[in-house]
Amino acid sequence: MDKIERIEIAVIGAGLGGAAAAALLDDAGFVAHTFEQAPGFDRLGAGIHIGPNVMKVFRQIGLEDELARIGSHPSHWFSRDGTTGEYLSEIPLGDYALKEYGAPYITIHRGDMHATQIARLDKSRLHFGFRLSDIVEQDDGVLLTFENGRKVLAGLVIGADGINSVIREKLLGAERPRFSGWIGHRALVDMNKLRSTGLDYERCVKWWWEQSRHIMAYATKSDGSEYYYVTGVPVDSWEHSESFVDSSREEMDAIFGGSHPMVQGLIDATESVTKWPFWNRDPMGLWSRGRLVMLGDACHPMRPHMAQGAGMAIEDAAVLTRCLTMTGVQDYATAFQLYENTRRARATKVQTISNANTWLKDPEDPAWVYAYDPMNVELN
Ligand SMILES: Cc1cc2nc3c(=O)[nH]c(=O)nc-3n(C[C@H](O)[C@H](O)[C@H](O)COP(=O)(O)OP(=O)(O)OC[C@H]3O[C@@H](n4cnc5c(N)ncnc54)[C@H](O)[C@@H]3O)c2cc1C
Repeated sequence: MDKIERIEIAVIGAGLGGAAAAALLDDAGFVAHTFEQAPGFDRLGAGIHIGPNVMKVFRQIGLEDELARIGSHPSHWFSRDGTTGEYLSEIPLGDYALKEYGAPYITIHRGDMHATQIARLDKSRLHFGFRLSDIVEQDDGVLLTFENGRKVLAGLVIGADGINSVIREKLLGAERPRFSGWIGHRALVDMNKLRSTGLDYERCVKWWWEQSRHIMAYATKSDGSEYYYVTGVPVDSWEHSESFVDSSREEMDAIFGGSHPMVQGLIDATESVTKWPFWNRDPMGLWSRGRLVMLGDACHPMRPHMAQGAGMAIEDAAVLTRCLTMTGVQDYATAFQLYENTRRARATKVQTISNANTWLKDPEDPAWVYAYDPMNVELN
């Protein structure tokens, strides 16, 4: 029979939320081990926004300066009509975000952000190639079995295992997420190639809306050498079993051809582009049970249109760690209740707006999103 190791806390998944939880728990003095199914992580072609609300967590774990050094600092997030270029709304970022919301707003390559988070972790407690396959709740802990045959008995289990969470399935039963009816094309664009189309680097996020589709573009490096765009396009169905498939410049042209010259420039500069389905779940009625608790996409997956999915996962990690610090692991029931009470309304609001895809279609004050401070918000 396999030897069963006992550990204090198991974090399942070393994605953006799980890696944040691992660092925060470690700093707070907990003995947390993180189990990730992947053998390692690649620099997959995608960008991500990190808002000031999230940068406050990275400040806490000592990563703010490094991420701010790598990433681009947009001056604004503009929303524009995709054909005429008319400005529909704008959010000032840059120095304004620093002053008003208390931390920088950056856009960055997702792989660079994740690599920075992973490098921060204690490697003796980070286990790649561990795909969780079975969960048995016992009086003295949760018995976790991994596909590689290893077993651990964990005092607490944090499900940071994403939209197809095994922990969610254990708590709420098997249910596939719903296809939202939308896909996103993602491409990294070389700045020199973009310049050759007549466009130049702009230190801002641009979001172009057309009747039933949109495209957003921003830089992912501080020197502006790498640009990124992501679309939102309605389709009838998603037939592929893979999580993403190749698209092409021709397909982009067929969808966005005839748009504003800046959109056309992005398409002309495209060398390779992939397309991804967007999945949905409705807000869930249960965030924890017994020794199992969830965070991030496991708990509240959302369409990406507010650029806050990872933000919510990382905020969750911060608040959950604070709750456990306040109560101690023995009183996990109180900690989990406090965590859900503190987080549910905010995460549900962001999830609902993201899924409705109404963010920034009209002018609005984003202070409620960006000024939030997960390290200091009242726990209630
Ligand atoms: C096109 C697009 C653009 C986006 N842009 C932004 C943005 O700009 N800003 C933003 O904040 N968010 C953005 N998001 C959302 C963001 O990517 C997610 O919300 C975020 O990754 C959720 O973090 P997580 O840790 O909960 O899950 P994930 O990052 O998905 O991590 C889950 C981890 O768990 C592992 N895992 C899964 N099952 C198991 C298992 N059984 N055993 C062990 N490990 C397991 C997975 O391998 C993975 O590493 C975007 C999403 C998309 C699709």
